[in-house]
Parts: sequence; structure tokens; C-alpha cells
Amino acid sequence: MGLLTEAPVPPGFTGTRIGVCNLCEAICGIELTIADGQVTGIRGNDADPLSRGYICPKGVSMADVYTDPDRLRRPVRRVGEGDDATWEELGWDEAYDLVAERLAATITEHGADAVGVYLGNPNAHSVGFATHGVPFVKSLRTRSRFSASTVDQIPHQFVGWQMFGHQLLLPVPDLDRTSFFLVLGANPMASNGSLMTVPDFPQRVRDLKARGGRMVVLDPRRTETAKVATEHHFVRPGSDAAVLLAMLHVLFDEGLTTPPAYVDHADQVRDLVADFTPERAELASGVPADAIRALTRDFAAADGAAAYGRMGLSTQGFGSVCQWAINVLNLLTGNFDREGGVLFPEPAVDTVGRRIVGPGHHDVWRSRVRQIPEFAGELPAATMREEIETPGDGRIRSMVTIAGNPVLSTPDGRGLAEALDGLDFMVSVDIYVNETTRHADVILPPTSALERDQYDLIFHGFAVRNTARFTPAVFAKPDDARHDWEIFGSLAERVQCRLGAGLKDRLTTRARFAPSPATIITGLLKTGGRTTMRALRKQPEGVDLGPLRPTMPERLQTSDKRIDLAPELVVGDLERVRAALDGTTQPGPGELLLIGRRHQRDCNSWLHNTQRLTRGKPRHHLLMHPEDLAERGIADGAVVRVTSRVGTVDVEVSGVEDMMPGVVSLPHGYGHQVAGTRMRHAATVEGVSINDLTDPDRLDVSGNAALNGVPVTVQPV
Ligand code: SF4
Repeated sequence: MGLLTEAPVPPGFTGTRIGVCNLCEAICGIELTIADGQVTGIRGNDADPLSRGYICPKGVSMADVYTDPDRLRRPVRRVGEGDDATWEELGWDEAYDLVAERLAATITEHGADAVGVYLGNPNAHSVGFATHGVPFVKSLRTRSRFSASTVDQIPHQFVGWQMFGHQLLLPVPDLDRTSFFLVLGANPMASNGSLMTVPDFPQRVRDLKARGGRMVVLDPRRTETAKVATEHHFVRPGSDAAVLLAMLHVLFDEGLTTPPAYVDHADQVRDLVADFTPERAELASGVPADAIRALTRDFAAADGAAAYGRMGLSTQGFGSVCQWAINVLNLLTGNFDREGGVLFPEPAVDTVGRRIVGPGHHDVWRSRVRQIPEFAGELPAATMREEIETPGDGRIRSMVTIAGNPVLSTPDGRGLAEALDGLDFMVSVDIYVNETTRHADVILPPTSALERDQYDLIFHGFAVRNTARFTPAVFAKPDDARHDWEIFGSLAERVQCRLGAGLKDRLTTRARFAPSPATIITGLLKTGGRTTMRALRKQPEGVDLGPLRPTMPERLQTSDKRIDLAPELVVGDLERVRAALDGTTQPGPGELLLIGRRHQRDCNSWLHNTQRLTRGKPRHHLLMHPEDLAERGIADGAVVRVTSRVGTVDVEVSGVEDMMPGVVSLPHGYGHQVAGTRMRHAATVEGVSINDLTDPDRLDVSGNAALNGVPVTVQPV
């Protein structure tokens, strides 16, 4: 028995080993019990300064992924089409050559933009993608870049870029010290926080309430978070902007504003929100005007208050207006950059200040078909299908997907699946054959998380406490396996070679991709000055760098170190808000508004083949208020037909008082197919894909898909 913290465990090892869960943004530290080389238990690491011993049920499934017989371990090539396709293994060199040949041929014949790239959410959880995947994608020089960000958090980045000067400079609630936590469109009891890395959210909320604090939740569903809140209000999907604008209106109306010295255009905001009264917001949202006034007064009076809105707010028609209004609310009430309010974390590797991630840009190019501006080098994922299918110069003919499943995650997924079949070539870097990668010609599987080193370059930057942690791989990589960063390096060099690059350029590329992520992180920590790799290796549970602290205005990335409270691209959208709030947020006759939901035991579109997580009561049902069921003569538990402009699905319905009347909910990431994939346990997971109903035409001004508030009809089958 022993505690080993450095090298991967040797064959037959028995003892404990520190690891990290990279499944969600909470980045929990874990302790693995290993007997004879097999993981026999996973628990939270009590010594971890951020997660403090917490893990959720998903954390245990880290071992399931490692041992999963369905996980790909060597490259495969698809033989045949559709449901009859089979997968044939091939060697790494052969696979690399095949992929490089086909990508280079597309670029040579049709130009770089004819290669599309889609990046899934797990890339944010892999240090190898950050250090090597990003330069690989850049090396393709394509403007046809898409990612899960545009079905998720782009409004935060779009607003952060305009107000704070950098897309990843996002204020984080000081949850451990706040006295008033206002939550809109977020369910951290299920998610453990997003753009707010907060492991053990349940205990932190208990602590908040124990010190006399309040948590108020606005959501169209009485979520797991709403159930532990001190107060919950139903809000009609897509109308949160009206509530937030009315809160700003009340602040000005009642003289409650205390803007900091480093902001401009507070007067302009006062004028902009003058007609967004609480009464108007009540009509649009269903939240009583009196409640909006009381909420605003209490928020402004609290000794440290933090407003936070997440996916339910970002993935609606006015996601950017909502995120802007939340920032303005925190700023105008003096809760910005203060203890108990919202603050900017100070990670040991400052990806923002050091420009490891670029600050962002907008409308440098546009999508070919709908002319939608890029943001930060990405086009909306909702445009991917048309960019593949619409003939003409620049049409996407080959796709590279990396750790993504857009067929389940992006609007009109069914249509996207058909489009993928029309590609000349597709390669996926992924550990599974799933609903998207089943369309690939070649799949290149990287090692699993327990076989890789990890440093969370992104999520330390969103954490409620400043910490740093480097986690060496628990298990050694098999000889015939490749890390993601090795795959990216090999592909970059071989594509370049086939495009005719000279020896000097190829050697430069090889040198660029040769250092491992650990080597790169060592250098970044050294120059960052807050801790060192040596210190982190000595303390694998992580190093505590202290609570969040005020950093303004020095931390701002704007050229004048000031915040524009009225950024043009966002406030320019208020006219559209005005027009919509008085009309289109109300569903048409007989229509209901569809929203998504997240479960603690699901991980977006994957892990549904893990029996440990999928057992128990089914959770794929459409949730609907009993009054809406009765109105339609539908029995609880019946199969119903849900129809939107885009598609139709049949699914069982559950009547629950937790839904706001007029609103229905399907979970995100369901709709797994068994045929053509190798998810042998997927048959145990039922349900349909919400994205067979969501509409690619519904976009926020940032280009983010408006996945929530989709008008649907529900009929008995
Ligand atoms: S909350 Fe759960 S899924 Fe997220 S990092 Fe922690 S253990 Fe993993």
C-alpha cells in the first residue's frame, strides 16, 4: 500500500492515488483507491483546497470511462454507410496519412474555408487541447470554425469583450461571502456551477443560509436550485431581459445607484431603461411588478450581493442583453469588485492578461450563407448545416470534429446529421462512436482522462476561490495509444507537409508541438509568479492562493481602464427587445414554450452508456404542468407528440407542478441511437433530442443559439 503522486501507477499497484475529475467545470479533486491495478473506489479529496472532499455522482464514473469496452483505443475507419456501417481498426501512421491527405486535398482544391471544424465542450477540460489543439486548428487557417460555445456561453464572452476588454474576463460571484445570491436561468445544484467553478454548491448554499443570507432564483421551472432557495419566482422563457431591465429601471427611479468611478455612460443606461417598467416586465414575464421592485431594493441594500445568470439566460433570444444587464446591476449597486459581490479571479496562469487566449473580435468575417458575423473567430454552430449543404464557393466539404456531438447539441441536429452524410470527408478526434462521429470516415481516439496530466487552464479563471493544481496522469498510456496533444501535433505536421510546406516550416511546426502540456504549463507558472510546478507537484491536492479580492480597475483589459456601461452592440439590441417583449414572448394560441434542463447524473450528450449513472427512475420525460395536460386531455405518462417549426418528436410526458404553466421541458443531450454507434448500454437510455425541435433561425445578437423558449405544440399520440 502507498500514496503515489508522481509517476503513473505501475502494473498491479495497490494503494491510493490523487486525481481530478474533468467532467464538469467544478474540477473536483478525487482520490482513487486502486487494488491490483484496478480502480475499486473514487472519493472526493478532502485535502483539495477548492473542492474540499466533494464529488457528485458523476465523479465515480471517471473509472467507468477508463475501463469502458466501448471506448475506442485505436484509430478506426468506417466501412459502409449508415446503420450498416462497421468500423475497421488501422494503425496510427496509416490513419494520420489518410486524414492529412484528405484534408490537404480539400484545402488545395477548394480553399482552407472548405474545411470546417467543430469543437465540443470537453476540449475546455483538456490541457492538451489548450496547448496543442488550439494551434492545430489555427494551422488549418479555416474561417469555418464552430464550437459548443455558440449553443452555450457566447453572450457572456461577447459582453465581457465589450465591457471589460476580454472575452474571458468574467466576474464570478463571491459565493462564500455573499449575503444575497440572485440566480437567473442557472441550476448549480445540478451543474455545480458554470462560468462559476463552485464544487460543493449544496454545502456553500447551506453556509450562505446559515449566515443569514438569501438565495433568490428566477426560473421557468422550480429547479433543484430553486427548491433550496429562500425565494423562487417563475419567469416566462425568453423574458428575463424584461425583468433585469426593470430592475435597472427601479435602481434609477428610486435613486439606488452607486456606480464606481471607473464606469462611463450611466446616464445613457438610465435613459435606455426608462420605458422598461416593472409593470411592463410583469406582462412579459409573469413576475409580479411588486416582487421586481422589492427584489431590486433588497439587492441594492444587501451587504454584498451577487447577481448571476447562466445557460438559461445565455441560450435565449436576448442572451447578451441579459448578461449585460446582470453586469450593470452588479456595477450600479456597488457589488462589483467587492467582497461578497462579484470579482475577477486571479488564476496562477492568467490566460486573460497574458493573452494566452485572445481578447476577442467581432464581424471580421461573416458566415457565407446567412451573413452572420463571427465572434472571436467562431461562426454560430446554428449555421453549420447550411454552410455544408448550400452550394457555392467556400462550401464546407470536409469536417474535423474534436470531442463534440453537435448532432445532439446544436439546433436542428437531425438536419445536421443528414448534412454530415453529404461531406466529402470527415475526421473526428473522439473516444466514442456517437451520433456525430458515426458519420466520420476516420476516428482518432485520444487517451482517456485518467491517462493524461491535467491543469485546468480555463476553470481556475472562473473559480470562487483562487487555487492552482497540477494532476499527473494516474495510469500510464498504453504503447499504442496517443494523447490528444500528440494527435494534434502529428496532424498539423502531416497536413502542412502535404500542402507543400518547406523543411524549415515543417521543423518549426514540429518544434512548436513537441513540448508536452506539462512542460508548457511549467513555463507559464514560472513566468506567472504565483506558484511553481515544483510546488504543485509537491502538493498534488492543490495550492490555495486565497479568496477572491478586488483588482479593479487594474485588471480591466480595456485600453482606458474604464468600463463602458452602454456597449453599442448590446444596447443596439434593445429595440428588438422592446418589439419582442410586447408580442413574441407570448406563445401563440395553443402553443407552449420549450426549455431544456440538466441533470446531475448526465454530462451533456455523453455518459449515457454508463450504467452507474443511468440506472434509477427514467428522466427523459417531457415535463409539463398538470393544468396544461388537463387542457389538452393528456394523461400523465402518456406518449405525446411535440412539434416545433423544425421537427417533431414523440416522448412520454410527466405532469409536474414544478413547471410554470405554459412551459414544457426536455433534458439536453438525449436522443441516443444504438444503431451505428458502439454504445452498448445506450439502449437503457430512452428519450429524444431536444435539438430535433430547436430552431437554427433563433439567434441572440452574439450568434448564440436561442435554444430556450421555442414555441411548440403538444398533442396526444
Ligand atoms: S461536480 Fe461531479 S462531475 Fe463535476 S467535477 Fe465534481 S465530481 Fe466531477
